[in-house]
Amino acid sequence: MTRVLLATRNAGKLVELRRILGDVPGIEVVGLADVPGFPDAPETGATFAENALAKARDAATATGLPSVADDSGLAVDALSGMPGVLSARWSGRHGDDRANLELLLAQLGDVPDDRRGAAFVCAAALVVPGGTETVVHGESTGTIVRAPRGSNGFGYDPVFVPDGEQRTSAELTAAEKDAASHRARALAALLPHLTTLAT
Ligand code: IMP
Repeated sequence: MTRVLLATRNAGKLVELRRILGDVPGIEVVGLADVPGFPDAPETGATFAENALAKARDAATATGLPSVADDSGLAVDALSGMPGVLSARWSGRHGDDRANLELLLAQLGDVPDDRRGAAFVCAAALVVPGGTETVVHGESTGTIVRAPRGSNGFGYDPVFVPDGEQRTSAELTAAEKDAASHRARALAALLPHLTTLAT
C-alpha cells in the first residue's frame, strides 16, 4: 500500500476527500492527524491552483509522502467571481461559515433571481516528493438562494442550489453531493494520477 496524505485542516473537506478517495486500490489515505505536525502556511495565491499546489508542496516536503491538497471556493456571477479564493475568510474571520454566508446573502439582497448564478470551483493538486506535480480542476454550477436551508455539508452549502436541483447542497445526502460536486469532479480527474502510485 502507498500512503497518500490528504493535506487539509478543514474537517468538512477531509470527510469528503476521504469518502471520495478512500477506495482506491493500493492506496492508504492518511490525514494530517496521522503525521507529525508542520506549520500551516498562509494562503496567499491569486488562484485556486496556486494555493492547492502550495499546500500540497508544503505537505510533501514536510512529510515525504505523496500529498493531495485542494483549494476551493464559491465564485458568484453578480460579484464578478468573488468571494473566490477569499471564500473561507469573506466575513473577515477565517472559517466562520455562518458569518461568511450571511454576508454573502446581504450583499446579494437586491440581486434578482435571474442573476444569482454561481459556481463552486475546486483545484486539486498532487505532489509526489522528488517526482511529479499535477493540478486539476472541477466545477459545479448553480444559484444562490435567499435564505439558508439544510444542515449537511459545510461552508456555503446551505445557500447553493446546484443546477438541476431544487434542494440546496446542505439538503443533499453525502452521496448526492459527491455525485456532482466540484471536489468530486476534480478528484475524479486526479484519480488516474493517483492510481499510478498504487502498490
Ligand atoms: P479553502 O480552505 O481556502 O479552500 O476554503 C474553502 C472555502 O470555500 C470553505 O471554507 C467554504 O467557505 C467554501 N467551500 C469550498 N468548498 C465548499 C463546499 O463544498 N461547500 C460549501 N462551501 C465550500
